[in-house]
Amino acid sequence: MDTPDPLKTTTATTPAATPIGDRRPGADGAGGSVPTPASSAPGTPPPSAGGILDAILTSKSELFRGSREVLRDSYVPSRLPHREQQIRQVAEVLAPALRGDLPSNLLIYGKIGTGKTAVVAQVRQDVQRRTDLASNVTFITLNCGNIDTPYSLLQTIANGLAKNEGDRIPTGWSLDRVQAGMRRLMDVKGGILLLVLDEVDRLVARSGDNILYTLSQINTELDNARLAIIGISNDLKFTNHLDARVRSRLNEEKVLFPPYDATQLQDILRDRAREAFHEGVVDPGVVERCAAYAALENGDARRALALLRLAAEMAERDRAKRITPDHVVKAKNRLEQDIIVDCCRTLPPHCKVLLYAILQSFERRRNGVLTGEVYDSYRRLAERLGLQPLHARSISNYVSELESLGLIRATIVSRGRGGRTREIIVDVPISETMPALEEDPLIAPVGRPKPRGQLLLTNFDNPARTDSF
Ligand code: ADP
Ligand code: MG
Repeated sequence: MDTPDPLKTTTATTPAATPIGDRRPGADGAGGSVPTPASSAPGTPPPSAGGILDAILTSKSELFRGSREVLRDSYVPSRLPHREQQIRQVAEVLAPALRGDLPSNLLIYGKIGTGKTAVVAQVRQDVQRRTDLASNVTFITLNCGNIDTPYSLLQTIANGLAKNEGDRIPTGWSLDRVQAGMRRLMDVKGGILLLVLDEVDRLVARSGDNILYTLSQINTELDNARLAIIGISNDLKFTNHLDARVRSRLNEEKVLFPPYDATQLQDILRDRAREAFHEGVVDPGVVERCAAYAALENGDARRALALLRLAAEMAERDRAKRITPDHVVKAKNRLEQDIIVDCCRTLPPHCKVLLYAILQSFERRRNGVLTGEVYDSYRRLAERLGLQPLHARSISNYVSELESLGLIRATIVSRGRGGRTREIIVDVPISETMPALEEDPLIAPVGRPKPRGQLLLTNFDNPARTDSF
């Protein structure tokens, strides 16, 4: 009874997602050595590319038991320790759907890495397992972090319901027409629609709450379907930013996800380590150290898992047979950098184009750039990419968002005779961030051409330095 998951459509185009079964060490771009196939004997022809790839795929990791997906965010483990209460609360709210009744709208709050997405994914699986053909329940799950505008939100919802190409909503319609098209597809689907808006706070910060108002009163305009909204927010004060009417509609039920403490994080990590690694390769102190660092960072399970994964990759790079607490220390240093790159990869499309425009201008000027200038280069890039540029106001919101993510700094400068503008300074290493963005299929067409051969210039801060690719 499920529709194709629009979330999956979006992640499929994100290069940050490593295909399941990709077992190359460092396949996630976090570095790591690739095992070299045994060197060929003199006289034997060098192995073909296919042969090398096969050797890499079949070479067994000394540490990892199987796929390293187990340590990724996208992996939903079968058990979520210390979230029993939240699972029960969410399930109780959604359960009426199984009887064909409309559940209340639900808001889920909690800091990043507190298991909100994982819990909803698990409850979704449980509901779906119990959904027979008669009880018509459809989940539509979207990550609003990747969605730029109300238009693309409605379009993504609608296209997640479209059965065939002809039903899909193209770009370029009026917002009213998209809304009507989405309502039609909802009615065709019929039954109970559960719309999960993950990271809904980011959508509201970007485009306001009108769209939530529209969605929250859509049941009055549907004939054959009914919609309940499950909003997930990383911002605990999210509802303060909502209009009172929207707040009361979305807030019918709420579930809070508190941060994990260090011992809870240890339990989570131990479960995953057992699944991910061969027995006995994780030294005492490794899990504890990962948990302790992550507990300091707001009790973020994502951070804890990333540390463990990177520590394993550091160990592989050292060709060590075991993961030690020292590898965790190295991983922690490395993680700071990777977080920046990951953060850039998950920005919504126009925000990525804007950031790329800022990096390009900054790289050329080696100095602060003014917002007007940035807007012009954003518009040029967007047009070259065949995107309809957003208005300066939306771009200005994106400048604030990039600033709050710590990727840039914007300071107000006065330009004589009362004129004021913002000057933008890049706060990330250009040498890491530009290639990361250029790997994205969205940016690639306007990216710098890659030199042919094995070497790629990655350090544009210092063109004399080359890094092997
Ligand atoms: P949030 O959505 O709150 O930011 P996620 O649900 O994405 O957090 O969780 C981040 C990572 O931590 C995911 O890989 C998830 O599987 C894992 N995780 C979070 N909570 C738990 C838990 N209680 N048990 C096991 N894994 C967890
Ligand atoms: Mg989440």
